[in-house]
Amino acid sequence: MFVLSSPSGAGKSTIARKLLAAEPKLGMSVSATTRPIRPGEEDGRDYHFVDTEQFREMVSDHAFLEWAHVFGHRYGTPKKPVYDMLESGQDVLFDIDWQGAQQLFQIAGGDVVRVFILPPSMEELRDRLERRATDSMDVINARMERSAGEVSHWDGYDYVLVNDDVEECFESVRTILAAERLKRSRQTGLIGFIRGLLK
Ligand code: 5GP
Repeated sequence: MFVLSSPSGAGKSTIARKLLAAEPKLGMSVSATTRPIRPGEEDGRDYHFVDTEQFREMVSDHAFLEWAHVFGHRYGTPKKPVYDMLESGQDVLFDIDWQGAQQLFQIAGGDVVRVFILPPSMEELRDRLERRATDSMDVINARMERSAGEVSHWDGYDYVLVNDDVEECFESVRTILAAERLKRSRQTGLIGFIRGLLK
């Protein structure tokens, strides 16, 4: 379970997209949210866009692995697709905030790898949000205010990267994934292989 978190606009979505394209054994967890759909987004691909009533039902059905309030809306990770991917031998990528990372860690502990991506500066972050131009000025200002709060949770992560250069940052994230996959505890077939070697 591979978690990527960052303040909005720090480049996390670009890195997630590149990672999914490069890593065939990595699947994406598509969250459900009550926030309105943005231009260019697709229901079922970027998020499952649901209303508050549907979201509440999913909560009471225990359909979420974790969920949280972010920017005045609700966001949650549907449980079943994650378990299905893990059972089929895929790793799962999560684009969730620090609250989600914390909840996943409580549930799955050592199976979770948490990566936090920082912007090079707060000015750069504002530039990126404005260039994205999908949100109104009010929303951008609110997001900037909350970004400082999100950054303050950097110490709840296993890895912290600064996204100065998206290509470099992507390569670092990919290296982390490769190294984590090679951890002895994650190589399930290792004991049998080593017995064979020593026969
Ligand atoms: P956005 O509205 O910009 O797509 O996402 C806002 C924030 O919500 C991002 O930091 C994103 O990582 C977080 N987020 C998206 N889905 C989930 C989720 O299922 N759970 C949690 N805890 N956070 C989420």
